[in-house]
Amino acid sequence: MDTTNILNSIKNISEVINIKENKDEVIKHSRDWRGRINNNALCVVFPKSNNDVSKLLKFANSNNLKVIPQGGNTSLVAGSSPTENEKEILINLKKMDKIIEIDNFNKCAVVEAGVIVDNLSDELNKIGKHFPVEMASTGSSQVGGIISTNAGGINVLRYGSVRQNILGLEVVTANGEILNLGSKVVKDNTGYNLKDLFCGSEGTLGIITKAILKIYPKPKDHIHFIMSFNSINNVLKTFEKINNDYSGYIEGFEFIPHLSFELCIKHKLIGRNFFNKNYPYYALVKIAVNEGKDIILENFQNKMMSNDNLFEDLIIAQNIQESNNFWQFREKLTEAQKLDGKLLGFDISIPLDHLDSFFEKSKSLINDIVPGVKFHTFGHLGDSNIHYNLIQPDNFNGNFFDCENDIKKIINPLLKKYHGSISAEHGIGILKKDDFYETKSKEEILIMKKIKSLFDPKNILNNKKIFD
Ligand SMILES: Cc1cc2nc3c(=O)[nH]c(=O)nc-3n(C[C@H](O)[C@H](O)[C@H](O)COP(=O)(O)OP(=O)(O)OC[C@H]3O[C@@H](n4cnc5c(N)ncnc54)[C@H](O)[C@@H]3O)c2cc1C
Repeated sequence: MDTTNILNSIKNISEVINIKENKDEVIKHSRDWRGRINNNALCVVFPKSNNDVSKLLKFANSNNLKVIPQGGNTSLVAGSSPTENEKEILINLKKMDKIIEIDNFNKCAVVEAGVIVDNLSDELNKIGKHFPVEMASTGSSQVGGIISTNAGGINVLRYGSVRQNILGLEVVTANGEILNLGSKVVKDNTGYNLKDLFCGSEGTLGIITKAILKIYPKPKDHIHFIMSFNSINNVLKTFEKINNDYSGYIEGFEFIPHLSFELCIKHKLIGRNFFNKNYPYYALVKIAVNEGKDIILENFQNKMMSNDNLFEDLIIAQNIQESNNFWQFREKLTEAQKLDGKLLGFDISIPLDHLDSFFEKSKSLINDIVPGVKFHTFGHLGDSNIHYNLIQPDNFNGNFFDCENDIKKIINPLLKKYHGSISAEHGIGILKKDDFYETKSKEEILIMKKIKSLFDPKNILNNKKIFD
């Protein structure tokens, strides 16, 4: 089928923007957030219902056309970018943005997959409820996108990742069939859990069109604080202590190196360090409190002060403005490093008892290859997940991306040795395929490929993502 016929057929099903008529808009949807991929889609389609999605997939499947499901396009591994130029069809769910029902009794929200996560949070906030997935991209990320990547964020310690927060899914498979998986019930042990399989499948098995998500009462209050440290070992010991003492209430424990302050100040994202002195490491922590905040706060301060000098300094937010300042700073770290220069990002997780040795060994070996590289290693330490990001040195001659393979040769074997993961929360997409092949067993990959061909025998959905 030629391009004109393809576009005319799609026009009969859904609104569509094509590369010839509106190149800028197609380019906007095709570029990945990190700017690593330069292919353009043939067109971007905006279905308005599950039936539209079903018709689009039936059409694509019978004509062997490749499609890419897309949400907010905030993937950090180019998960919703084309792998070929002007051939693939992007299916963006943004027009399917209805919050269908907020069910207080069954503690869930039924939403279309194109709902932007922050819009759901705003609605829930009005009735004292919340959906716990919070991260810097939730102003753009859609529900279907965060489910397809099993996203994490800053509240995983208490609520788990997205997978722990979905009760049901509606999914359209490659041949256009609409599946309803799960329901409002929490317990359902009837055969294989297909809903969980779609979560984290990165658009390779089907298009998610609707979800039933768990919602929670908003905690009455929080204690937000930032601590400074002289060693990673002390950060880890402090995490262990706080995690034990406040188990079930600690929501996030974020690790931040001093470079984060330097970058945010340099790029005018914040005015100054919260502390009067610089320290090598910091931790930003959030603990939920339901009642008796004053007593809990006093106990907390006493406990922290008797902590054998594990930390150097502590600032507890005294009001909402101060806690917002802390977390806005945390949210700006991804943007700050993007502004600073070319970046190689490794979203790793590692058992925490090996974190210190991993940092020490990998940093020394990487420094030998790229002297002066900026290690912007921050993230969800409480979930054993660090965004191990390398920013090119100032005045670097050459293409920093050319160093990627040599750096991977250092990081991947160390992660394997310590039984960590090459992708804790961002998925595989295009950018992490090599690492996936290198670190997963052949047997596991073979089973995944068989599952893929069962749901999508003609391989039309997100071709060349996760694996080839
Ligand atoms: C500043 C910043 C901070 C971030 N912080 C975090 C963080 O803390 N934790 C974290 O986990 N991630 C984080 N991310 C990564 C990113 O936001 C997540 O991967 C997000 O879940 C993707 O949602 P999206 O709607 O933008 O999906 P997209 O980027 O559009 O797509 C992501 C993947 O999902 C697939 N997909 C999208 N919609 C559907 C659908 N309806 N059905 C089937 N497949 C679909 C796509 O094909 C693609 O494979 C961050 C990103 C940025 C830019």
